[in-house]
Amino acid sequence: MSKSIMHQKDGSCYLCMRLNLDYDTHKTTEEHHVVFGVQNRTKAEHYGLKVYLCHEHHTEGKYAVHKNYKIARMLQNEAQMRFEAVHPELDWMSVFGRNYKQDEQSVATSQETEDTEPGFRFLEEEEINGTQESRIQRT
Ligand SMILES: [Zn+2]
Ligand SMILES: [Zn+2]
Repeated sequence: MSKSIMHQKDGSCYLCMRLNLDYDTHKTTEEHHVVFGVQNRTKAEHYGLKVYLCHEHHTEGKYAVHKNYKIARMLQNEAQMRFEAVHPELDWMSVFGRNYKQDEQSVATSQETEDTEPGFRFLEEEEINGTQESRIQRT
C-alpha cells in the first residue's frame, strides 16, 4: 500500500479538520480513495490520493463524501492540486482523464443541485471494489 500524499494516517479525519477545524483523533478511521471508479481507484492508490475519514464523514452523515456531491468534488479538486504539486513532471489529464479543477468551478455556479445531482452514483462505483476496501479497513 502506498502512502497518502494528502493526509497522514494518524487517527485524524481529513474532513473533521477541513470542515470543522476539529483535529481530534478517532478510534478508527476509514480509508477513502479520493478519485475512484474501476481504473482510477488503482491509480489513486498508486499515487497516494487517499484520505482517512471518520465513519460520519465517509458514508454516514450529511457531509459524508459518499453522500455529498460537493464534498466529493472538493476532495477531488484538492487531490488534483496536490498531485500537480508533488508530480510536476506528470500530466493529471493523461493519468486520470478528467479535470476536477474545472468541475469545481461549475459546481460552484450551480448551488441548488447540491445533494440530488442526478448522475451522482459514486457509492455504487466504489462498491465494485467494495470487498477490497473493507479488507483494507479491517487491518
Ligand atoms: Zn470526520
Ligand atoms: Zn470511500
